[in-house]
Amino acid sequence: MEKLFQHISLLSNGKFTLPYCNCLWIEDDVNCLVDSSPPEEQWQHIANQPINLIVNSHGHSDHCSRNYTCPDAQVLMHPAEHKRVSNGDIYLRDYGFDLFPDDSVRPLYLAAVKYTPRPADGEIQDGQTISTGRVSFQVVSLPGHSAGHCGFLFPEQGFIFTADINPDSKPFFAMLDSDVDDFIYSIERLRSIGPELLVTGHGSALIKSNISKRLAAYRDILYQQEEKILSLLKSGKRTIRELAKEAVCYEGRLPQPQAVYYIHECMMDWKHLQRLERLGKVVNEGDNYYLAPGQRSVLQTLG
Ligand SMILES: [Zn+2]
Repeated sequence: MEKLFQHISLLSNGKFTLPYCNCLWIEDDVNCLVDSSPPEEQWQHIANQPINLIVNSHGHSDHCSRNYTCPDAQVLMHPAEHKRVSNGDIYLRDYGFDLFPDDSVRPLYLAAVKYTPRPADGEIQDGQTISTGRVSFQVVSLPGHSAGHCGFLFPEQGFIFTADINPDSKPFFAMLDSDVDDFIYSIERLRSIGPELLVTGHGSALIKSNISKRLAAYRDILYQQEEKILSLLKSGKRTIRELAKEAVCYEGRLPQPQAVYYIHECMMDWKHLQRLERLGKVVNEGDNYYLAPGQRSVLQTLG
């Protein structure tokens, strides 16, 4: 546990270890945990203290897995995240397990991510201020990763907790309600807020320098992935499953366990294709995707 500011500590092991995340622990009149999936040894620092309030950035299990161990805490998250934290089947559906079914993965997945249903008690909304006594922070809606994904701005301390907008990794947008345009909007929103410090939900947690530049580079990964998808369509790939084998969103190689990351890749390729369709660059017919006429080379148009 690392003290960041008066009353505010960081629970992190500095590594990207799923299904855990970096959390904030606010010791105040109201003891508040921001996200609740700290690494096990970090959890021990606060396990014996009263936790009055849990505010979750979103409803993914690697951000809210300890909610169920705190029955007396008030649990708040954006309403778009409520259903999936209450029901494992909805959680799996939201991750695309019904669209790209894999019976070898489905029964193991919820245990692997430490999913335990725990309904939220209340909602947070963009612009809302949450006060724990001496500390207060604002909810900043940052959709794209998921529809209800939120960051938390601490104006007095000059930092923002960005959860799964993390320039140290690759954008992840593999949910039914993920959206690439929203993701880009949220990255730009963070850049316009111009914080002095980002506290990210995974990895080394603290990003102190070149924040705007690093966020721009992170955004550009999305554009680069789309260029790659367009070139794959040009080379004759047609379906989401064909595209997913190329692992565009994982730099050409799916991480282990590959069966899980294949589903994530399918979902993210689909999300990119949806955006490319909106931009008029791609057309969809049944399971097949094609470059829009203006995007095709002369040869392909003739073909
Ligand atoms: Zn997430």
